[in-house]
Amino acid sequence: MMTKEQYIASLRELHLNLYRFGERVENVVDDPIVRPSLNSFAATYELAEDPQYEDLMCATSSLTGRKINRFTHLHQSTDDLIKKVKMQRLLGQKTAACFQRCVGLDAANAVFSTTYETDAACGTAYHENFKRFWTDVQDHDWAVDGAMTDVKGDRGLPPSQQADPDLFLHVVERTPDGIYVTGAKAHQTGYLNSHYVLVMPTLSMRQGDEDYAVSFACPTDAPGITLILGRQSCDTRKLEQYNDIDVGNKLYGGHEVLVIFDHVFIPNERIFLNGETAFAGMMVERFAGYHRQSYGGCKVGVGDVLIGATALATEMAGCAKASHVTDKLIEMVHLNETLYCCGIACSSQGAPTKAGNYLIDLLLANVCKQNVTRFPYEIARLAQDLAGGLMVTQPSEADYRNPATHDYIEKYLKGVASVPTEDRMRVLRLIENLTMGTAAVGYLPESMHGAGSPQAQRIMIARQANMDRKKELARTIARI
Ligand code: SF4
Ligand code: FE
Repeated sequence: MMTKEQYIASLRELHLNLYRFGERVENVVDDPIVRPSLNSFAATYELAEDPQYEDLMCATSSLTGRKINRFTHLHQSTDDLIKKVKMQRLLGQKTAACFQRCVGLDAANAVFSTTYETDAACGTAYHENFKRFWTDVQDHDWAVDGAMTDVKGDRGLPPSQQADPDLFLHVVERTPDGIYVTGAKAHQTGYLNSHYVLVMPTLSMRQGDEDYAVSFACPTDAPGITLILGRQSCDTRKLEQYNDIDVGNKLYGGHEVLVIFDHVFIPNERIFLNGETAFAGMMVERFAGYHRQSYGGCKVGVGDVLIGATALATEMAGCAKASHVTDKLIEMVHLNETLYCCGIACSSQGAPTKAGNYLIDLLLANVCKQNVTRFPYEIARLAQDLAGGLMVTQPSEADYRNPATHDYIEKYLKGVASVPTEDRMRVLRLIENLTMGTAAVGYLPESMHGAGSPQAQRIMIARQANMDRKKELARTIARI
């Protein structure tokens, strides 16, 4: 396993072709906009080194029997699935941001079981390919990004009928040694902090879409890949001279990039699906299911920090004992723990796949994520209610550091006399960061759209609901 330092050093070896704010980024690792997201990702290595977290952060490989980081583990039991959620809550608490490494973990577990079933049906050899690749990942403790979301173009048209064939990533050339692919994956969380990318199709495929039913792995800096960073609300505060208070969470963050594949070569041994349209849907469904489980951990951990910050803000303002304040804090806890209940429930009801690794209960995982599309918004609304308007109207840190204005800010932004004004400013900026700033990307719109937008879960809930059985129950009771 890599230490945090070894991990960061290994990222310096990558030659990522990244653009942001109109310029090419030469040094991604030390880029002030990207760096907080690297710190979050690095926490997945750092905590694995800490003996007190070993049970959650480490596992025994089912492929090699060696000790590995749980972020590279193929789940072997419902206990493993539960530990995954607990690990994610812990990381959310420590970073108050998206720590990014779950996407590759969820992709790996989906691809592992899907390749097994594809091979059984089609006589292919994708499962062996994947096992060899993933053994390498575990042995090197590589960071892997999972890439699913195509840009999709006209939502009313299937991949092969788009005006521009590249709007879904596809095979453009086949050779005896491998394939060439072209297309793009949007919203790629954690790509810049990863050594490999594991690509999957974005939706179920029909006959005619064979070139689009493709899954593979390649280095994140493979020739032909271009990256464009997504910008976040308030991101340039990180570039300001006085950014200690105003960023809200100076150390940690997340990022998303648009990943463009322009005729990228993939050797045969790294291909895990290539034209078997019938199995694209299985891969999508399983990956989405795992990632919908994930949100029952990570968002809860971030929610813990937001609830704590809100409670602190009320104490600093001297209103913590008001009955409506305590009641709103209880409501926030209730909503947050409900998400956790869903994450634990879909894990505890998991079952083995034909390949042997464990899959969550898909109905409960989709219910989990459907709640995640709503509850963090309500938790954030309550946090803003209790934080008060000062969260968005307080002067900048630059004014606080300026002798001409410092004393006025110190005097007039004071709440409870014993609390330093600067502490109050810090906690309010943290709430701002989580509900409107850079971290809100991960806590709010990602809760809405990450792992699939709300309607995607409703389709799965409808499919898994077993309505006929419910009708039968009613008929029996009603004696129809
Ligand atoms: Fe992990 Fe959550 Fe970030 Fe997804 S949103 S990668 S589950 S921390
Ligand atoms: Fe996500």
